[in-house]
Formats: sequence, C-alpha cells, structure tokens
Amino acid sequence: MSAPPPLNDSFGRTMRDLRVSITDRCNFRCLYCLPETEEAANFYRGKFDALKNPQPTLTPIVREWKPKSALLTYEEIERVVRVAVGLGVEKVRITGGEPLLRRGVPDLVARLAPISGIRDLAMTTNGAHFATHAVALRAAGLQRVSFSLDSLDHDNFKRITGRDGLRAVLAGIAQAKELGFAPVKVNAVVIRGLNDHELECLAGFAREQAVSLRFIEFMPLDSGRAWLRDLVVPGREILARLQARFDLRPVVSENQSETAKRWTFADGRGEIGIIAPVTEPFCGHCNRLRLTADGKIRTCLFSLHEHDLKPLLRGNASDTDLAARLREIVLGKEDRHHIGEPSFQQPERTMSCIGG
Ligand code: SAM
Ligand code: SF4
Ligand code: SF4
Repeated sequence: MSAPPPLNDSFGRTMRDLRVSITDRCNFRCLYCLPETEEAANFYRGKFDALKNPQPTLTPIVREWKPKSALLTYEEIERVVRVAVGLGVEKVRITGGEPLLRRGVPDLVARLAPISGIRDLAMTTNGAHFATHAVALRAAGLQRVSFSLDSLDHDNFKRITGRDGLRAVLAGIAQAKELGFAPVKVNAVVIRGLNDHELECLAGFAREQAVSLRFIEFMPLDSGRAWLRDLVVPGREILARLQARFDLRPVVSENQSETAKRWTFADGRGEIGIIAPVTEPFCGHCNRLRLTADGKIRTCLFSLHEHDLKPLLRGNASDTDLAARLREIVLGKEDRHHIGEPSFQQPERTMSCIGG
C-alpha cells in the first residue's frame, strides 16, 4: 500500500514536527512566560515607566490549572501521535508547562518511542526535576532533551524564574550529557536589561560544556501581556556581540525548517544558535503543529483559534476520521505571525499552555 499524502497546508508547507504539551502546570514563574512574582512585576513596571507606556495588568493572577479530566490521557496522546506520524510527522517533542510535573512521563515516552516513523523524540524541560527522571527517560527511549537556562548567576536565575533552581538545572544538564542524550540543547530567552549582560557567559558555557546553546528572542506570549518590543534583543545584535568575543564559524544546514541559525566555536567544542522569530521570522518554512495538554491542535504559536480533538478521541471516531480532521485543520494553518503590526492580537493562551 502506498503511503498517504503528507500533511500539507495551503501555503505549500508540509508538517513534520509535532509538539505535544502534556500539562499546563509549572513549578517556575519565568518572567517571559508566567510573570507572576513581585520581582517580575517590578521589572516590567520599571520598563513601562521609563518608556511612558500604559501599565500592563500585573496584578497577581490566581492561576487555575486544567483539571486532570480535561487532559488527554497518555493513551489518547499516543493515538494522536501515531495518526500524525502516519501522515508524515517525523519529529515529536514532549513539552508543557513543565512536562516532568506530570506523573509517569517515562511511560508516555515508552509508548511513543516504538512508533515507527518517529525519527526524533525529544523533550523540553526547565530541568528542575530532570535528574530524578533522567535514567528512566533514557531507558524508555527519549533521544534528546532541551533545557531552559537563561542565567548562570544564582540571583539572576531566581529573579527570572522566580525559583532558586540553578544548581538543579546544571545538575540536570550534566546528567543528560553523561547518559548520552545528544546533542544536549539549552534555550535562553534574551531580554534587554534582564539577562543580556550574560550573553558572553552563556556562550562560554556552551563551549565549556560542549552543548548547543540557543538564544531566543522574547515573543509576546507571556501571561502578564507585558511584552514590549524594546525588551527584544534582536538576533543580529546577539550575533554581533558574540562575534566580537568568540571566533565563530557558521554551520551550514540543509534543513530549511530549522528555526535556529547556528555557529560553532573555532575549536569545535559546543555550538550557539540564534532563534529570531520576531526580527527575522521563519514562518515561510514552518513545519510545526502543536497539541495542547487538553487536546487542542494549534496550527501556529499565535493562533487565535484552536481545534479540539477531544470529541473525536472520546467519541466513536476512527483513526481514519482523525487523520481526515488533521488534514482539514492543517489546511487552515496561518501563513505567518503578525507581531508588530497594528492588527496583532496576542493569543489568549500563554506559552506555558501552548507548549514551546
Ligand atoms: N517548561 C519547559 C521549559 O521551560 O523548558 C517547557 C515549556 S516552555 C513553554 C518551552 C520553551 O518556551 C522554553 O524554552 C522557554 O524558554 C520558551 N518560552 C516561554 N515563553 C517564551 C516567550 N515569551 N518568548 C520566547 N520563548 C519563550
Ligand atoms: Fe514554566 Fe517553562 Fe514557562 Fe518557565 S518557560 S514558566 S519553566 S513553562
Ligand atoms: Fe510557525 Fe506561527 Fe511560529 Fe510562524 S509564528 S514559525 S507560522 S508557529
């Protein structure tokens, strides 16, 4: 039997990458994602005052997490992944919220790893609980892991994440390397006046630790709706700063859908990447779909509409019905984001619910 046609959208892009959020909960309060600490409010207040902008709503949020019954079970997630892989998806990333807050994640990995057609099974984590689960995740078949790490300074780490967790994250990264997850990636969201003074230190860390450190521009997906263009450090500026300090060699990639532009250090140890969705959007090559923890497909990070798969999953729909629905959803994928345009509307759900 010939393979079914791939998941094509109406702009000629083919979906190959599925990000699966398994929980909306998080134990961190990152200033760019869930800015719900007094420190975060103070940081933004200062910026808004200086720029004479109207203040965003930074009143403490009483957060309501989704109840367990609203979340897809691991069995349901496995089914969606299996159907999507049958339609040509090759990369699957488990994310959140903080995925390792959900019980039994190695069980989910063990369900997904044998699905034939997955070439890359990865996870994004804040790293706080990684060391506890690392061996089980590896044994279950997880291939790669990306950590979030925005600062190498204990106080600044706490200021950014709202938690005293730097030591645990560094231990998690060390353990991932020891266990042979490769390459270990580290994501740092760069925010002007918050951690941009640490760019060179973070790049130095990539080289010392032989990891791939990706600097990411701050996107308007924060729960405080406090994003300001002035807080974005453009990718070009990040690169100029790093080139002034290090001898960097560009990495030529044949993968057009890769979001990061990458460089290695002259001595070949470690790598840096720059992901610049705001100032150098890569929507034209976007091949990603996202499944939220409560079973909605998002065709773009900035989608204003979601597509609920739960009625199909919990009704009598067959896998063929599910596949047909996925095809239909993908046809409506947005061509690009509209950050910076007057029509731009920040989606209701934040990065912690969408799954980065
Ligand atoms: N909790 C896990 C973590 O932090 O790695 C996984 C989920 S988190 C939403 C996934 C990624 O999204 C993280 O690497 C984080 O840095 C990134 N992220 C969150 N909010 C962002 C924003 N407003 N702009 C850019 N990246 C963001
Ligand atoms: Fe949690 Fe990740 Fe968002 Fe930070 S970026 S608040 S760790 S979901
Ligand atoms: Fe893809 Fe939307 Fe991100 Fe553009 S903004 S790269 S279309 S998810």
